[in-house]
Amino acid sequence: MSTSHASTREAERLNALHRLDLIHAPRDPVLDRATGLAARLLDMPVSLVTLVDASRQWFKAGVGVELLGTPRAHSFCAHAIEADEVMVVPDLVADDRFADNPFVAQPPHVRFYAGAPIRTIDGYSLGTLCVMSREPQPDFGAEQTQTLVDLAALVSGWVRMRESAGYLDAATGIFTRQRLLETLGTALRRSPTAGDSHASLLGVVDVAMPRQMHGLIQVLGYQHTERFIAECIERLAYALGHEHPIYRIGLFRFGVLLREQPDERTRDYLYRLMKTLRQPFDSEIGILLAPDTVMGVARIDAGYDTDIDASEILRRASAAADDAWESDCCWCYYEPAGEARRQRRVRLLTDLRGALEAGDELYLEYQPKIDVASGDCVGVEALLRWQHPALGFVSPAELIDAAERTALMRPLTDWVLDTALAQSATWRRRGLTLPVAVNLSAHDIADEAIVERVDAHLRRHALPGDSLEVEFTESTLIDDLDAAVPKLEQLHAIGVTTAIDDFGTGYCNLAYLQKLNAGKIKIDRRFVQTLDSDERGQVLTRAIVRLAHDLDYRIVAEGVENEATLRLLVDWGCEQAQGYLFARPLTAEALHDWVRSSEPVALS
Ligand code: C2E
Ligand code: CA
Ligand code: CA
Repeated sequence: MSTSHASTREAERLNALHRLDLIHAPRDPVLDRATGLAARLLDMPVSLVTLVDASRQWFKAGVGVELLGTPRAHSFCAHAIEADEVMVVPDLVADDRFADNPFVAQPPHVRFYAGAPIRTIDGYSLGTLCVMSREPQPDFGAEQTQTLVDLAALVSGWVRMRESAGYLDAATGIFTRQRLLETLGTALRRSPTAGDSHASLLGVVDVAMPRQMHGLIQVLGYQHTERFIAECIERLAYALGHEHPIYRIGLFRFGVLLREQPDERTRDYLYRLMKTLRQPFDSEIGILLAPDTVMGVARIDAGYDTDIDASEILRRASAAADDAWESDCCWCYYEPAGEARRQRRVRLLTDLRGALEAGDELYLEYQPKIDVASGDCVGVEALLRWQHPALGFVSPAELIDAAERTALMRPLTDWVLDTALAQSATWRRRGLTLPVAVNLSAHDIADEAIVERVDAHLRRHALPGDSLEVEFTESTLIDDLDAAVPKLEQLHAIGVTTAIDDFGTGYCNLAYLQKLNAGKIKIDRRFVQTLDSDERGQVLTRAIVRLAHDLDYRIVAEGVENEATLRLLVDWGCEQAQGYLFARPLTAEALHDWVRSSEPVALS
């Protein structure tokens, strides 16, 4: 061990000793019993529990000694601590290290010492359980040494219990986030020369997708959720090797410390780790559950930036885990480059609050939906627009993606519903009856009160249910199909039309269509846009149209950009179409003028 490594280790040891605050803790009967037992079992007049501090050693319990402590320089135990193992000195006088020690050279003339380290969870030796006598003990053998080591282990157990009080998660028995922050703090203070035996990476493991957590609890129930979590912890422990501590950071989020290896090996290691975690297991309620696990990884290293503290490391690894979800990767390293994107997201969300109140930055555009048989405009889709005062135009896709992770999605959807229906009511007063379609997000479909919310908006504007259409994407419906089915039915019951948006992009399993019973399917524009030149796409789209008709769905094609495409869709019996061929999304005023002036788009 190099000197600098040794002195770092000693600094950390002292840190652990002081953090535990054992030196000033009141006398504890457990320690009195331990020393009594050691004295009796080993037949020694003196037994002590010692704590070795920077310049003193303290006696925390003992038999046969009146002193409270001694200078460290006179301590036998300090040598056992430095060696970090049990130390037996059969005759102190015969040992160069101790012959001049005042306790040996002067009365009471101690001649024999044996001490075994007391260790913390992290393996720091705080002091010893030791025995001494005035006679040399040439016969103190392996068996007695083992007895002393075993008793010291019991005292270590007591120390660890004190250590973990407040640091253990009550539900699972693993360490808490608080404990992780302290461990990270210690690691950051460690000098970079401390050697490579220490963990140098923090992994944040998510075993469920953040936006699915709620659904998971609903499906499993609390009891099974706890079992699921316990099983995930067990797997983590197995995959990591049991000596690695695991920390609970959130309901489905865990922290683990990893030792960095050369790049290739770390990658292989992470790959194997995630493979183990992602194996499906039987959740005992008859469904096979595959944990949707991802990991974010950050270096535990302040580098040149002294501002970096433990919570920053944790934030980075958590951000990397979020990146992993977003990019559909098993794991991601923290990337400072992603920081700008994250900051923009935070800014958008912060400013969105104000925009919802200010009311002049957000507005809706309306895109006509055309009945392909008559060429008439039979409705509009409301599309959200945000003209940010500093950032300029923010795309709805970016805005919805950010808002959907937060509680802001609800007021945003309410704003859209309210604005769209107010507009529809205005058009009505001007003699134009145009049902308006509003896009709802995963957040909205998960909301228990969504039907009441929609109903309340209709009432406020005194509009019938059939003046509103709501669009849900295929993937949001699939996420929790059983919850979605009754909600769609209730929406139908109040007269609202429902449509499955972006159809064909998500799941190839069409069986769910039968179960869902929405009114319309909107074939995704990615199919439609290339339809005139893509023969395979034609075969597929045609099959979708036929199947959906058999199931009584009406079909809307979105993204119709040319007449050739429209002709195909008409031939196949598609009911409605939407796209740049007819009109781009328009402001409310422009839409009104467009409807009034435009000729029906009839096919010649
Ligand atoms: P979406 O629901 O699929 O909306 C249709 C998108 O296709 C719109 O993009 C529209 O401008 C575009 N589009 C329409 N016709 C054509 C065409 O012929 N060619 C091409 N290339 N594109 C066409 P936009 O307005 O950028 O909206 C993007 C997405 O943002 C929407 O996709 C929708 O998922 C989401 N979104 C927009 N407004 C809202 C909202 O109020 N609430 C929610 N939850 N999502 C919204
Ligand atoms: Ca839509
Ligand atoms: Ca769409």
